[in-house]
Amino acid sequence: MKIGVLALQGAFREHVQMLRSLNVDAVEVRLPEQLRDLDGLIIPGGESTTIGKIATQYGLLEPIREMVAQGKPVWGTCAGMIVLAKDVGMRQPLIGVMDVKVKRNAFGRQVDSFETDLDIPEIMNGDKSPFHAIFIRAPLLESVGDNVQVLAKLEDGTIVAARQANLLATSFHPELTHDARFHKYFLEMVR
Ligand code: GLN
Repeated sequence: MKIGVLALQGAFREHVQMLRSLNVDAVEVRLPEQLRDLDGLIIPGGESTTIGKIATQYGLLEPIREMVAQGKPVWGTCAGMIVLAKDVGMRQPLIGVMDVKVKRNAFGRQVDSFETDLDIPEIMNGDKSPFHAIFIRAPLLESVGDNVQVLAKLEDGTIVAARQANLLATSFHPELTHDARFHKYFLEMVR
């Protein structure tokens, strides 16, 4: 199994490290031809407009859409979630494949970065401890389509993780913790 991490901007190294710590063959992806032999792809956090613009220049958006259409799992964390969404309420280059409406920088200035513990039954897999979620100028999911499964919510009901068939999206950054449960969940999707 070979997993790519889109390495144009943002927190891609942390994803690669997490995958390698799980003994997964992980590669940094910058060119369309590197997508060809992948079994799955992670789009990291960072700045979604920047990631989208560079991905456009490198001709990556359409090949990633094709990967999704082929049923290969793709996971977007934070900015990566924004890039996967069909609707972000503003004009920017997107892969635009997931039936979700995203609100960028949704948590306002005072709390634009925060950490909280979440119960995420889908990823627990025997380990009942809550998942420590790190939000950095994070987007939220304003609404999701009927075909989208909500995986995690904040106490006030805000949706912060969701899955649609082979697509996975999280507002927060599992790669910045030492908790590999989300990565393992994604690897199960790939298997
Ligand atoms: N605020 C960023 C954006 O809108 C996302 C932040 C992140 O990925 N940590 O693209």
